[in-house]
Amino acid sequence: MLGNPMARSILIIEDELEFAEFVMTGLAEEGFAVEHAIDGKQGHELLQSRPWDLVLLDWRLPHQDGLSLLRRFRQSGRQAPVIFLTARDEVDDRVQGLDSGADDYLCKPFAFAELLARVRALIRRREQPSSLLLVHGDVSIDLVAQRAQRAGRSLDLTAKELALLSFFLRHPRRILTRERVYENVWDEAFDTSSNTFEVHLKELRRKLEALGPRLIHNRRGQGYFLGEPPPREGL
Ligand code: CA
Repeated sequence: MLGNPMARSILIIEDELEFAEFVMTGLAEEGFAVEHAIDGKQGHELLQSRPWDLVLLDWRLPHQDGLSLLRRFRQSGRQAPVIFLTARDEVDDRVQGLDSGADDYLCKPFAFAELLARVRALIRRREQPSSLLLVHGDVSIDLVAQRAQRAGRSLDLTAKELALLSFFLRHPRRILTRERVYENVWDEAFDTSSNTFEVHLKELRRKLEALGPRLIHNRRGQGYFLGEPPPREGL
C-alpha cells in the first residue's frame, strides 16, 4: 500500500468541470492532494510548475490538446506517470497516446474504482526502489550505483574491494573460509600460495576502520566473519 497518500500530488487537466470535480472529490477522499487545470494552457503551466506524482490528462482540451501537452511534458524530461482520460476509444488513438509517453488510459465513462486502482498501481510502480541496498549496521552498499558508505560517509573502494565487502554483507555473522570468499569474489580457483585475498582484505579493512570499529574479523583456523561473532561449533 502507499505509505503516505497525503503526500501524493495529482494534477487533473480536464475541461469538463463536472467530470473533473467528480474525479477530484473521489481522489481527495482517498487522501490525494489534487489540483485542477481547466484547459491546455493552464495545464502546461501547472505541469511545468512543480513535480507531480501523477497526471490525469484529458485528450480534447481548449488551447492545446492532451496529446501535444503530453509530448511537450515528456520532451522536457518529466517522468511523472500520466493516465489519459478520453472519450475516444479507437485503437489508433490509444496507440498514439501510449507512444507519446502515456502510461495508461481510461475511456470515459469509467468507474471511479477503476481509475483509483490504476492510479495506485502506477504510483506504486513508480515508487519501487531503483537501488538494491546491502546493509549491516552503519555500512551499506548500493549495488545499482556501485557505491559503499559507512556512518553516512562515502567509502572509496576499488571494484574488488566492493565485491569483497558485498560478499561479507550477504553473509553476516557466518564463518567464511578464505577459499570460499576468494572463489566467489575472484571467480577462480583459490591458490594457497597467493596472498591476493589478504592484500585486498587488508586494504578494505583499513578503509572501513577509518570510519568505525573493526567489522570483518577472523577466527583462527576457521576463516572470517562480518559483524557479531557467530556461535562456536560444538558449544
Ligand atoms: Ca475534454
